[in-house]
Amino acid sequence: MLSAEIIAIGSELLTPTKTDTNSLWLTEKLNEIGIEVKLKTIVGDDELRLEETIKDALKRSDIVITSGGLGPTEDDITRQVSAKAVGRELVFYEELMKELAERFRRWGREMPEINKRQAFVIEGAKVLPNPNGSAAGMLIEIENKFFVILPGPPRELKPMFETCVLPKLREKAGKVFVKRRVLRVTGIGESAVDEQIAPVYKSYAAVQTSILFNRSEVEIHLSAQSNSETEAEKILEELAEKLVKKLGIAVFAINGETMEEVVGKLLVENGKTLAVAESCTGGLIGERLTEVSGSSAYFIEGVTAYANEAKIRTLNVSRMLIEEHGAVSAEVAEAMAKGMRERAKTDYAISVTGVAGPGGGTMEKPVGLVFIGYSDKIETKSIKINLPGDRYLIRWRASQFALDFLRRKVLKKVESKSN
Ligand code: ATP
Ligand code: MG
Repeated sequence: MLSAEIIAIGSELLTPTKTDTNSLWLTEKLNEIGIEVKLKTIVGDDELRLEETIKDALKRSDIVITSGGLGPTEDDITRQVSAKAVGRELVFYEELMKELAERFRRWGREMPEINKRQAFVIEGAKVLPNPNGSAAGMLIEIENKFFVILPGPPRELKPMFETCVLPKLREKAGKVFVKRRVLRVTGIGESAVDEQIAPVYKSYAAVQTSILFNRSEVEIHLSAQSNSETEAEKILEELAEKLVKKLGIAVFAINGETMEEVVGKLLVENGKTLAVAESCTGGLIGERLTEVSGSSAYFIEGVTAYANEAKIRTLNVSRMLIEEHGAVSAEVAEAMAKGMRERAKTDYAISVTGVAGPGGGTMEKPVGLVFIGYSDKIETKSIKINLPGDRYLIRWRASQFALDFLRRKVLKKVESKSN
């Protein structure tokens, strides 16, 4: 596998106001043709550091791509520093000069003297035309390595890379197809997931597996490489299936879907409807559900019953129940779910009540304590969870737990019916 590295050039990229997005885009394009990006560097407009970086990069990587610093001004140093780093001269390129002058003529302007700098290219470099700007790019082959120099503006860099560089790299990389897949898992921690599935994925040499933790779930990223597209897909399919077998119901998505998409699909498939009663999540579950287009087919109604009065008035929770157990309790969560389902006349209802913090926690009911309620026509249940995190995370995780609780319940019902 070929290794690449990207050098983003420009002092503004080292400030908090400007982000290097070129390298993200380039990485995606390189990965698609089976080239791995091993390193990214951001260098300011500093000659010594840039020269050092380019020299090091060419020592360790097969492909080195720079972006930015090709403009005509004093702080655009990429051209001369790159020449110095590879020990070559800059040569004047008459053709480029003519094109530049022509560009300016078309704009009805005289070409400023300093733009002549942009007509210099590194000796032996292939010049990459720039139909969207004045700075031409360069591609230099040195000892079987590719050194690619691109302009900074994304609207110039992208088309130049796609038309002039990508075909060459594809040829160099050989025929490689990369297919990706993301599995998402809830209810198990990152290391427990890895412990269970490592023996499985480690036997797949052609697949790169990485496991990461997201706000409320574990993601398993699979990336398969092969010289045939169908083969890459087949390998992924096979491995994904084995992983699902290992982890069971904890896997909620096998193609990167969100929890709200998965729940929505499940409800549609079974022709069921849902209503949601939220206290500490303040409408987050409703928002997530309605982010999915077509959700009106199953999501009927959501109530944010924040104050006790609202729980009593809107969800028909009894005042005595709240007084006896407190608003954050299994009893109230269940009463909220039941009241919600009866009010909305849906097949299912879920509810959330908890302490999102940072204030309001007690010894008995600490910050992060959340009750999820569930109600269908036969039963009404609840679970108690203790969630770590700040207010944002507790609310997010509570919404995820509630949706997941529903997902598991619906799946169990579907399963028992088909048995
Ligand atoms: P120009 O001829 O426009 O000066 P240049 O090759 O010198 O081109 P820069 O001056 O480095 O490019 O950058 C021009 C603009 O392109 C920057 O102001 C910035 O908006 C954008 N840009 C540069 N580098 C990046 C990057 N790595 N990611 C995203 N945008 C970038
Ligand atoms: Mg510039």
